[in-house]
Amino acid sequence: MEIQIQQNVSLKHFCTYRTGGPARFFGEARNADEMIAFRKFAREQKVPYLLLGGGSNVLFSDEGFPGLVIHNRMEKMQIVGDRVVAEGGVNLMRLILTCSQNNLGGISGLANVPGTVGGAVYGNAGIPDIWIGNILLQAVLLPENSDTPIPVGPDYFDFGYRESKIKGKKEIVLSATLQLKPEPEAKIRADVNQYIKTRALKQPSGNSCGSFFKNPTEFPSAGWLIEQAGCKGMEVGGAQVSPKHANFLMNNGTATSKDVIELAVQVYEKVKDKFNVELEPEVQIYPKNPFKANS
Ligand SMILES: Cc1cc2nc3c(=O)[nH]c(=O)nc-3n(C[C@H](O)[C@H](O)[C@H](O)COP(=O)(O)OP(=O)(O)OC[C@H]3O[C@@H](n4cnc5c(N)ncnc54)[C@H](O)[C@@H]3O)c2cc1C
Repeated sequence: MEIQIQQNVSLKHFCTYRTGGPARFFGEARNADEMIAFRKFAREQKVPYLLLGGGSNVLFSDEGFPGLVIHNRMEKMQIVGDRVVAEGGVNLMRLILTCSQNNLGGISGLANVPGTVGGAVYGNAGIPDIWIGNILLQAVLLPENSDTPIPVGPDYFDFGYRESKIKGKKEIVLSATLQLKPEPEAKIRADVNQYIKTRALKQPSGNSCGSFFKNPTEFPSAGWLIEQAGCKGMEVGGAQVSPKHANFLMNNGTATSKDVIELAVQVYEKVKDKFNVELEPEVQIYPKNPFKANS
C-alpha cells in the first residue's frame, strides 16, 4: 500500500483554533487500508500517532505533534432506507444536508456541531436535544492492536455527556450507522436554519473550539461559573474569554496555543478559588494535557 507521508506540516490549518506547531509526520487516509498503512508507518518509526477529524475539538501545542497526524479523509456515505452509513471523516453538516435531500432528518440539532462523524462519536457530541450516541445504531471500529475492523453496537461506547468508552483510546471509528427520521426537506432546512440562528445569538464566531470546559453537574453551566468568577473578557496574549459566552476561549487572531492554555489555567484557578470546582476541559490538548482532571 502506497501512502504519502509529509513532514513538518503546520497543524494551524487543520484545527479551528488556528494555533499550534507542525506535525513531524502528516498524512491523509482516504480508506481503511490507508489508515492501517499509516498506523504501520508510525509503529515502524516508533512515534505516536493521532487521528484528526475536523480539528474542532483539539488544541495542539506550539511545539507541534512529535509523531504522525493522520487526517481522516474517509468521506463516503450511503443512505439505506431510513438510515445512513457514513465514514468517520464525513463532515456533519454535509451529512445533514445530504440526508435532507432524501427527506431524512432527525439530526438537524447536530448542525451546530462542526467536525466529522468520527469525532462526534469519539466525544458523543451534540446539544441538549440530541447527542450522536442517541441515534447511533452501529459503528465499525479499527481496534488499537488489530487490523481487522469490528462492528460494535451503541452499548459498546457507554455514552455519557461528552463521553464515550473510546475517548482517550486509540480505536478508530471507520464508519457509523445512524438512525434517521422521515421528514420533508423544507422542514429540515428550516430547523437547521433555526438552530444556527439561535446559536449565533448566544455564541461568538471566530477561532475557538466551542465550549472549552465541560459543564459540571451541580452548577448551571461552566460558562456561568466562569462569568461569576469574573473572567469574562480576561486576556492572555491573543487569547480572550469571550465577552459574549464565557466558556468560549477565543483566539483573537494572534494567539498561540500557550496563550490559550495559560488563559484556561487562569480561568480554572479562579473558578476553583471561588467555587471549589475543578473544571475539566472538553477540548483535547496534545501532545500533553496540562489539566490534572483530564490528563
Ligand atoms: C464553534 C464550535 C461550536 C461547537 N459546538 C459544539 C456543540 O454544540 N456540541 C458538541 O458536542 N461539540 C461542539 N463543538 C466541539 C466539536 O465540534 C466536537 O467535539 C466535534 O465532535 C469534534 O469533531 P472533529 O471531527 O472536529 O474532531 P477532532 O477535533 O478532529 O478530534 C477530536 C478528538 O476525536 C478523535 N477522533 C476524531 N475522529 C475520530 C475517529 N474517526 N475515530 C476515533 N477518534 C476520532 C481525535 O483523535 C481527537 O481526540 C464545537 C466546536 C466549535 C469550534
